[in-house]
Amino acid sequence: MLYKEPVKPDKMALLFSYSCPFCHQEAFLYSPVEPVSIRCGGCQNTFSIAPVDKHTVQFIHTMLLNGRAASVPE
Ligand SMILES: [Zn+2]
Repeated sequence: MLYKEPVKPDKMALLFSYSCPFCHQEAFLYSPVEPVSIRCGGCQNTFSIAPVDKHTVQFIHTMLLNGRAASVPE
């Protein structure tokens, strides 16, 4: 079965990249608003990340209507 209309996004997530201080491999986290420690997938070393501001993340979600406002206008 093929749905005729293109489906628009109804949710979104912000992906943040952190560069490992040991080997510089990138680690991607979805809006990390709490300070956490992560283990690098490349060198297996652990490092803590500075969180992102949850109000800033919420503002962007609100501004883009949780992704719906980012659709290309028809
Ligand atoms: Zn690493």
